[in-house]
Amino acid sequence: MNNFLKKPQLTACHECDALQIIPVIQMGWKVNCVNCGHLIMRLPRHGLQSPLAFYLTVLLLLIFANAFPFLSLNIEGRIQQITLFESVLILQQYHMGMLAIVVGFTLIIAPFLEALLVIFIVLSIYFHWHFSWLKKSLKWVGKIQFWSMLDVFLLAVLVSFVKLTDIAEVVVGTALLCFVALVFVYVYSLRSIDFGWLWSHLRQWESNNQ
Ligand SMILES: [Zn+2]
Repeated sequence: MNNFLKKPQLTACHECDALQIIPVIQMGWKVNCVNCGHLIMRLPRHGLQSPLAFYLTVLLLLIFANAFPFLSLNIEGRIQQITLFESVLILQQYHMGMLAIVVGFTLIIAPFLEALLVIFIVLSIYFHWHFSWLKKSLKWVGKIQFWSMLDVFLLAVLVSFVKLTDIAEVVVGTALLCFVALVFVYVYSLRSIDFGWLWSHLRQWESNNQ
């Protein structure tokens, strides 16, 4: 498996645009800009296994967080359970269609897409599947990450949880526990992968195939 840079590569610093050559480095090493010290590339210590394990966990937790009830409300003996998708539908029912679209996209669609794309890219590099649209997929991951707002939603849920306890008995659902775990695992997933390194892999493939 190509789990480290085999050839020095010319690259530009994202912070100061200084052009420089990244030397051949091993797993667990990192490269800082010679001009401003900005981190240019960090190779994960355990190669592709770490991001693959983290993003598969993210995908599983996403499925559980969407499949089970998020919260149960007991208002004067009436028990109502709600899932993440139902919370989006409720926004639509209260004529907040645009908000429902934004919440549905940032909370459900974007995290699922990001996890699936990263797993697909990592598996492709691991098994040497040379798909022509890998670079496009990696570009999309960068765009989708901008819209993934799991942590913001968790904060909003915690605030709502405190307020709801004043008017009803609130029972935490399995999905909420999965969602809390998801936010923490997602943060570690981002730390486990270096997208500059993935780009280098794809560039090396291109130059090898020319
Ligand atoms: Zn720099």
